[in-house]
Amino acid sequence: MLSRRQMLASAAALGATSGISPVFASSDFKLDQFIAELKELVSIDSKTGHEEGVNKIISIFEKRFRSIGWTVSLHPCPGRGNALVATSKPDQSKYDVVLCAHADTVQPVGYAQKYPFTLKGSIAHGAGVGDDKSSLLAVWWICKSLPKSVTDKLNVAVLINPGEETSNPATLKFFEEQGKKTPLALVYEPGRGEVKGGGFVKVRKGSTRLNIKFHGRAAHSGNNPQDGRNAIYAMALAIPQITAIQKKYPGATINGNVTKGGTAVNTIAAEAEVTFDFRFTNDATRDKVVAEVRAMCEKGFMDGVKSELVINRLGTALPETERSRKLMAVVDKAAAQIGQPKPQWLAVGGASDGNKLAAQGAAVVCAMGVVSGNLHDPEKEWTDLSTARPRIELSLKVLELLASKK
Ligand SMILES: [Zn+2]
Repeated sequence: MLSRRQMLASAAALGATSGISPVFASSDFKLDQFIAELKELVSIDSKTGHEEGVNKIISIFEKRFRSIGWTVSLHPCPGRGNALVATSKPDQSKYDVVLCAHADTVQPVGYAQKYPFTLKGSIAHGAGVGDDKSSLLAVWWICKSLPKSVTDKLNVAVLINPGEETSNPATLKFFEEQGKKTPLALVYEPGRGEVKGGGFVKVRKGSTRLNIKFHGRAAHSGNNPQDGRNAIYAMALAIPQITAIQKKYPGATINGNVTKGGTAVNTIAAEAEVTFDFRFTNDATRDKVVAEVRAMCEKGFMDGVKSELVINRLGTALPETERSRKLMAVVDKAAAQIGQPKPQWLAVGGASDGNKLAAQGAAVVCAMGVVSGNLHDPEKEWTDLSTARPRIELSLKVLELLASKK
């Protein structure tokens, strides 16, 4: 347990390294308060699907956003909990910009106690502290610090997803509806800890599972092997051919990671299947690859064995577009204006809610949150609280610039 005295000592140490921004006076950011609030969030188990815990987190933010006069609505997502929408104006049908974060974590129930919040210098540990609790909290601090000059011009919408780590039909529907309402989205996944000072994300690959089932014919492999058609053999031929498609599409990866097949060693295998993890940097590439795989399956890989492509859900990429480049330029300009280093923009493999918002046409930048790392490792996950204030200040400046353009 961290005493209040220890917290204040850490706060003082961090305060000494922070600069003063013209939009966010030093007196506005109270690190000791930020730490206490983060500690509270980390103490609540909010594993994806643990609705009780997730809703506790949601209700904390519901109260906070109501307390500053924002319009709040809750959107039940059965199996995940309540999604929250908070807008700076009463109108929830159309937004100027979305700030998005999530309340769930991958850490099992009980880990809040097993891996509690700890702080050493500026580095905080604890289950879910980096993904996404410190960044979720940063969104609140950004919003409550927004000057009236910004909220008069912009309808800022906060979306809190109760189930980011594993989507379900309800959360997907929520994002389908909300994504259509905004031209711009800033996503508060943690700033990328692999880059010194913390990276930002411009591209997140989309992913789709390509499952191919092979239907051959069984026969005794001693008595009449000539009558059989070996589905495993066909699958083995298919795997390198399908994997090779990735060479034609920069940034695409296709990996056959799970296979099944056969029933007994003395039986020619009538059935087999392989599932490929397919990732892509834009949806046009996705469609081309899927069409190629489908054509190959229709043609077949071996006489007498049918191949059938099954896709349950087409994922979507968070692509770099002309409009997202404009949003990146606003972030770059904001950083320059408040004396922060030029943001480093990364293309990464994992998806976020940014992918879902981009699928509805929003220009998206991601990893706007507090710089963190070792995500999903309950023992080592960290968030660097010395980056909380600069990241909050950066977003405030971004929103100020967006307001000035309106
Ligand atoms: Zn996350």
